[in-house]
Amino acid sequence: MKRGRFGAHMSIAGGHQNAVAAAVKAGCDTLQLFTKGNQQWAAAPLTDAQAKLFRDSLAQAGLGQPVGHTSYLINLASPDPVNRDKSIRALIDEIQRAEALGLSDLVMHPGAHMNEGVQAGVQRIVSALDEAHQATSGVKVRVALETTAGQGTSIGCELEHIGAILGGVAAPERLSVCVDTCHIFAAGYELDPAEKYDAWVDLLDQTVGVPRVRLWHINDSVKKLGSRVDRHAGIGRGLIPVAVFERVVNDPRFGHCPMILETPKGEEDGRDLDLINLEILRSLER
Ligand SMILES: [Zn+2]
Ligand SMILES: [Zn+2]
Repeated sequence: MKRGRFGAHMSIAGGHQNAVAAAVKAGCDTLQLFTKGNQQWAAAPLTDAQAKLFRDSLAQAGLGQPVGHTSYLINLASPDPVNRDKSIRALIDEIQRAEALGLSDLVMHPGAHMNEGVQAGVQRIVSALDEAHQATSGVKVRVALETTAGQGTSIGCELEHIGAILGGVAAPERLSVCVDTCHIFAAGYELDPAEKYDAWVDLLDQTVGVPRVRLWHINDSVKKLGSRVDRHAGIGRGLIPVAVFERVVNDPRFGHCPMILETPKGEEDGRDLDLINLEILRSLER
């Protein structure tokens, strides 16, 4: 019943279609990709031909519901007006790229308040999103606010932060939520044993609403519970009990969500690490 939704983040070096080829090679059902180079503000415009090549490759490969991830440079909560404005322009460009590529959701870290406080940061994010939404009216892709580990002054490490953004924007239906298992663990949310998992889902429902969660990032954590340090590990190779992953992949409330790996890449004994991690996830399905 829940087949066909496991994937991994793939590189777009050499063209977005290369991410599709890499996903097929690793045995993915779906994938995540950047809409442009993630460490640069500006990029050459995405041509219709490039976007079509990506969509055709995806259809040919039979992969489902692809998702995007924005550049790490974007900070809608920045108190610096120049940086914040740059961030809004960049997000508008990425929303348009994601729409042309046919992505369902575009994951974005909510932002960092740079010592101005969560409340001020949330207000800046809300008005920036309103501006980006107005500039991209009619698009289908949703910006997915990602839960964060709480490194530095990053917003999104408490579910209430995400709830406040959803509650503040003029068009919450344009937003979704991406839960990252590594980030919530590092942020201090314990999902083991089962009673704690259920309590966390209840909190998730009260703060953001379970139906808003449209995708998951499935990563293990190198750093301990509550460390607020974001360091991903392969599944079963970090400090998160495997039972947590088992609960998430079998929870019917998240049965519609793509489950995307952002785990370390490479090979082990000649086998692709994405392939190994995907095998583990699939083996957890009941
Ligand atoms: Zn993530
Ligand atoms: Zn992370």
